[in-house]
Amino acid sequence: LSFRDIGVMEQLCEACEKIGYKAPTEIQRESIPWSLQGRDIIGLAQTGSGKTAAFALPILQALWNNPSPLFACVMAPTRELAYQISETFEALGAGIGAKSAVIVGGMDMISQQIALSKKPHILVCTPGRLQDHLENTKGFSLRTLKYLVMDEADRLLDMDFGPKIDMILKVIPRERNTFLFSATMTTKVAKLQRASLTNPVKVEV
Ligand code: AMP
Repeated sequence: LSFRDIGVMEQLCEACEKIGYKAPTEIQRESIPWSLQGRDIIGLAQTGSGKTAAFALPILQALWNNPSPLFACVMAPTRELAYQISETFEALGAGIGAKSAVIVGGMDMISQQIALSKKPHILVCTPGRLQDHLENTKGFSLRTLKYLVMDEADRLLDMDFGPKIDMILKVIPRERNTFLFSATMTTKVAKLQRASLTNPVKVEV
């Protein structure tokens, strides 16, 4: 199967080819057709499986179909992972004009506030710093959010981001698409799944 076969639009197929993705990986094949249909996804997949593009491609396609600022928010457990995710969005989304920003701890608040005021399409964050901006950055909210991704959810919860995530879930629209990716299914992940996903498709690779 090719990216075209699983419903990925032409411009994004070309972006995949350009960065050397010849065919979808298993997690991409199993999840993208569902996410393009608007379903929530719980993906059990390790790093290296291609999970980042599994959520980035359907988000970029939805953005192309219905562009709006602060369209998607991806929460990741570490700064390093947040930057990697943002690079994938940039590489795949450059041709369709998708703009992203990284909002992580340990970086200057003011320059992040300037980045947020430009209303990028995609925010890649660590939960603590996102919560900080939601509380302290004037004019910033996620009320227009269409997609939420929780990447490496088991690690997010092991790092005690649970309470921050609960607070963030309270201030984003209930009507949205949500993708939760985790290497393992733990009790805490199952609880987060129940609190955040609606009738999800479970994909395990
Ligand atoms: P991830 O699991 O998202 O961290 O991706 C692991 C690595 O696989 C990254 O270097 C990606 O660029 C690469 N990758 C993702 N999807 C594909 C694909 N369909 N074909 C080849 N490489 C891919």
